[in-house]
Amino acid sequence: MSFKSLGLSDTLLKAISKKGYTTPSPIQEKAIPPVLEGKDVLASAQTGTGKTAGFTLPLLHILSETPKEKYRPIRALILTPTRELAAQVYANVKEYSEFLNLRSAVIFGGVNQKPQAATIRQGIDVLVATPGRLLDLQNQGLLSLKRVEIFVLDEADRMLDMGFLRDIERVIKSMPEKRQNLMFSATFSKDIKKLAHGILNHPVQVEATPENTTVDAISQKVYRVAKGLKTELIIKLISEGNWKQVLVFTRTKHGANKLCEKMSKSGITAAAIHGNKSQGARTKALAGFKNGSVRVLVATDIAARGLDIPLLPHVINFELPNISEDYVHRIGRTGRAGASGEALSLVSADETTFLRDIEKLIEMKLPVEIVEGFEPDPNASTEPVKQGQGRQNRNTRNSNSSRGSNTSSSDKKTNSRRPKRNTDRRH
Ligand code: AMP
Repeated sequence: MSFKSLGLSDTLLKAISKKGYTTPSPIQEKAIPPVLEGKDVLASAQTGTGKTAGFTLPLLHILSETPKEKYRPIRALILTPTRELAAQVYANVKEYSEFLNLRSAVIFGGVNQKPQAATIRQGIDVLVATPGRLLDLQNQGLLSLKRVEIFVLDEADRMLDMGFLRDIERVIKSMPEKRQNLMFSATFSKDIKKLAHGILNHPVQVEATPENTTVDAISQKVYRVAKGLKTELIIKLISEGNWKQVLVFTRTKHGANKLCEKMSKSGITAAAIHGNKSQGARTKALAGFKNGSVRVLVATDIAARGLDIPLLPHVINFELPNISEDYVHRIGRTGRAGASGEALSLVSADETTFLRDIEKLIEMKLPVEIVEGFEPDPNASTEPVKQGQGRQNRNTRNSNSSRGSNTSSSDKKTNSRRPKRNTDRRH
């Protein structure tokens, strides 16, 4: 299967070949034809599958085939849950539209709105946005969605996790009823299905699991260790393994900061990426990680979601996630684009229940290793770590909104898709 046979224009094919892609990924093969036919699409795909090109390429094709007006109204809206994802999607839109006469822009919170508003005022065809800033600018009369023809909801499950349901509903109300809708989600809970039902019109359903990121294709290992020895152990593993690019997950923002500090003191360059970091700090950390000047990126689940970091050799769970599905998302960061990957988890006694739940979900027992001198504490309680004690509850934050403390009550209502345990999600 070639990109040409999918029906994309020669101008887009030129941009695709400039990007170095030779064959479409499974999700691209499945999603591009129905999108080009103007159908609504519901796609099950997570980051790493090539989903961004899966919706961006046909979207650009459709827009470039139809005549443009002198004043350009926003004709395509791509809504993403996080700033990072918005920036990445926008970078892709720019690259793929390099040879087309189309204009695009990205807007997200945490940065000055003036340049964003100025770009929109000049007229753009494609807007990539996070919900908070989009509604802000809309409320100020700085943009209109009345002429949107194609609406893309990216990472819909995370949108709901982050409490954006009401915002999405508001955005939808401000667009024309007659439009093409594309919805992407890694998971399909009841809430997601309900949302899809409300947005999509007789959608074509497509599905793709990342080729190299299936759970059993990744080498996974658990280190049983005493809680108090985790930091020393992770430093030992990274130093002795001479690992150059390591993504580490912690459960909390505070934990991410603390670990970063300790690593830096041990001579390992590390940076944290989480919701309390400014946009500038996050971009800098990610850029440093990509160019190799930062060896370890310590991230929380939501902050890491959607980051485009190809060829990641090592992922370490400094703490296991309390939501089993997050484990699958986390380790899916290894072995992308054909590279081999290794996912390690440091597990203390109080995480035993989390480990059991994860093993149940992935339907396999993870191999366990104990490093001499870093043995687990035989007397430690296996009572699960308490959630939300003295820490920020997920419902009280909205890292993506530019409205800070003025966050509307609707943002605070979190639509949890995983009611399994009574847990919060901190990032
Ligand atoms: P995504 O799932 O959209 O975040 O894409 C994951 C990574 O795969 C990105 O680095 C893309 O640039 C890359 N990618 C997307 N489509 C292709 C393709 N057809 N061939 C090779 N790489 C691709």
